[in-house]
Amino acid sequence: MTVRRLVLLGPPGSGKSTQARRASGWLGVPHISTGQMLRRAAEAGTPVGRAAAPFVRRGTLVPDDVVVSLLAANLTDEGFVLDGFPRDVGQALSLEGIVPEGPDLTVHLALPEPEVVRRLGGRVACARGHTYHLEDRPPAVDGVCDVDAEPLAVREDDRPPAVLERLKTYRLETEAVLDHYRSRRLLVDVDGSGLPDDVTERILGVLRA
Ligand code: AMP
Repeated sequence: MTVRRLVLLGPPGSGKSTQARRASGWLGVPHISTGQMLRRAAEAGTPVGRAAAPFVRRGTLVPDDVVVSLLAANLTDEGFVLDGFPRDVGQALSLEGIVPEGPDLTVHLALPEPEVVRRLGGRVACARGHTYHLEDRPPAVDGVCDVDAEPLAVREDDRPPAVLERLKTYRLETEAVLDHYRSRRLLVDVDGSGLPDDVTERILGVLRA
């Protein structure tokens, strides 16, 4: 299957960023993470970042006018691996407004909630979004990213109150996006549990099919 426009869906902690980064490498198309773009904008203190920061901190959705324009400014006709967008059906329709062909494929990384909570509880990340788990996948050197030697920290929204809010948002808003793409026969469910390499193999299996 030739895929140039791939969307990764799944709850927080399901491995979207890790898998999106890898998929972007195989497919030769840009990895676009709205969460990462918003965090960078917040760190840089841009107007977009300042508008988004309180929502990101609480674990609720940043308003569409902010996110959709940020996305539109970053999509090119090279294609994409989207990670973190669309988060609700309105955003799925906005994506079709920006890219009328829509995605070629959407992959749902399925993960049960108790495993989401366990994964986010032990997660640390660098500013560029490389993530580790203190038990499952610790960095080689404590507190330092293996890839870019940047310091590792717990994301503020990986702390308990924001995690619960993110899970609620996922259940109430994002799960409907799965049905949106399923009914268009564009969705494949992939088991997101286990090691990142195993999940990668499952995704590759879908892309090779
Ligand atoms: P993520 O890195 O994908 O877990 O996103 C972190 C946070 O960024 C989310 O909890 C939201 O506050 C915000 N965010 C990321 N993507 C979106 C989006 N498509 N729409 C609204 N808010 C978003």
